[in-house]
Amino acid sequence: MDFSFSAEQQAIRDAVEKICARFGDDYWLAKDRDGDFPHDFHRAFAEAGWLGVCMPQEYGGAGLGVTEAALMMQTIAESGAGMSGASTLHMNIFGLNPVVVFGSDEQKRRMLSPLIAGTDKACFAVTEPNVGLDTLKLKTKATRDGDRYLLSGQKIWISTAQVASKMLILARTTPLEELTEPTDGLSLFYTDFDRRRIEVREIEKMGRKAVDSNQLFIDGLEVPVEDRLGEEGRGLRQGPHRVRPADRREPGDPASARRLLD
Ligand SMILES: Cc1cc2nc3c(=O)[nH]c(=O)nc-3n(C[C@H](O)[C@H](O)[C@H](O)COP(=O)(O)OP(=O)(O)OC[C@H]3O[C@@H](n4cnc5c(N)ncnc54)[C@H](O)[C@@H]3O)c2cc1C
Repeated sequence: MDFSFSAEQQAIRDAVEKICARFGDDYWLAKDRDGDFPHDFHRAFAEAGWLGVCMPQEYGGAGLGVTEAALMMQTIAESGAGMSGASTLHMNIFGLNPVVVFGSDEQKRRMLSPLIAGTDKACFAVTEPNVGLDTLKLKTKATRDGDRYLLSGQKIWISTAQVASKMLILARTTPLEELTEPTDGLSLFYTDFDRRRIEVREIEKMGRKAVDSNQLFIDGLEVPVEDRLGEEGRGLRQGPHRVRPADRREPGDPASARRLLD
């Protein structure tokens, strides 16, 4: 099996390396010491179009695939930026794939464009205290109230919640005991990170200090119905871990990479 990079893959690595070269060891050492979010690193990649690496071109993305996004992350980590550099960006790229796959045209236009431009920053909130890998037991509740939902509950280990303006969140719309199919009953929302309704407490951890990890206490967060992605109760099938093969890359578009590489 040949593991060498194609010409296009090598060009992607070269272009990413060029941006990373502007942020040397001193920059990352300072971030690691102070724990400040690397906003200028994030802005540099947004300005060059890379935050939309695997998002559709019609919403301002480059229309490449998850493989190309992974190459970008690998190159960033290798540059000396490590996990701090990769995690500064990856929440907004891989974490937001459910919007790309399951969002309506209106949602994609509204949600993806500001992310790609770097004006919005998003976190994703799945994990809960005592409910890590056992996702079917998630407890955070979303109760329908007319044309909105009210969300309450706790999430833990949520990266970038200190700086996020948006949140992708998985919450329970039907109690577990009322379900015949335990994989139903969870719904996915992409909505404003309203700090009046969400208390954010940072968790001290080893490593990746510049990219914060947090516990969230959510109390009556109002989420408009139009911020729900896909059908109610089908959120587990639409989470950040779901990437359908059809969405890996826009087929037959040789121009897509050129937007980033020229
Ligand atoms: C730095 C950091 C950043 C994170 N960022 C985010 C984020 O942005 N958003 C988010 O939603 N989450 C985030 N997470 C949470 C992460 O996804 C969870 O930690 C992960 O899902 C595991 O959950 P847990 O920690 O509760 O471990 P647990 O589920 O308690 O698992 C602990 C151990 O038990 C094992 N185990 C669990 N269940 C079984 C089983 N049934 N059979 C056999 N072994 C089992 C696991 O393999 C593991 O070794 C982050 C975590 C960290 C540490």
